[in-house]
Amino acid sequence: MLREFFLGFIKVHILYHASKGRVCGVEMMEELRRHGYEISPGTLYPTLHLLEREGYLEGETQVVAGRRRRYYRATGKGRRALEEARAKIRELVEEVLE
Ligand SMILES: [Zn+2]
Repeated sequence: MLREFFLGFIKVHILYHASKGRVCGVEMMEELRRHGYEISPGTLYPTLHLLEREGYLEGETQVVAGRRRRYYRATGKGRRALEEARAKIRELVEEVLE
């Protein structure tokens, strides 16, 4: 149950950062750790791939220092989903954190 909630929060974080600039898995993992989420690559990478497959992110592979990295940005659909999530988060915060 908690894991499901957190996965939702994590997706919102990813969309948020991918709407501000490009993100890659390693950076996103550090960022999420900073926010207190211990997420394994085995959870994060499939989540990124899923968001890409569903059209919320677009990925681009680049070779950085001899290693292939996939960078992601939010698509129009991703940005719209983020806007919707924002409204819902505001609502939820007002109710739950009252
Ligand atoms: Zn963040």
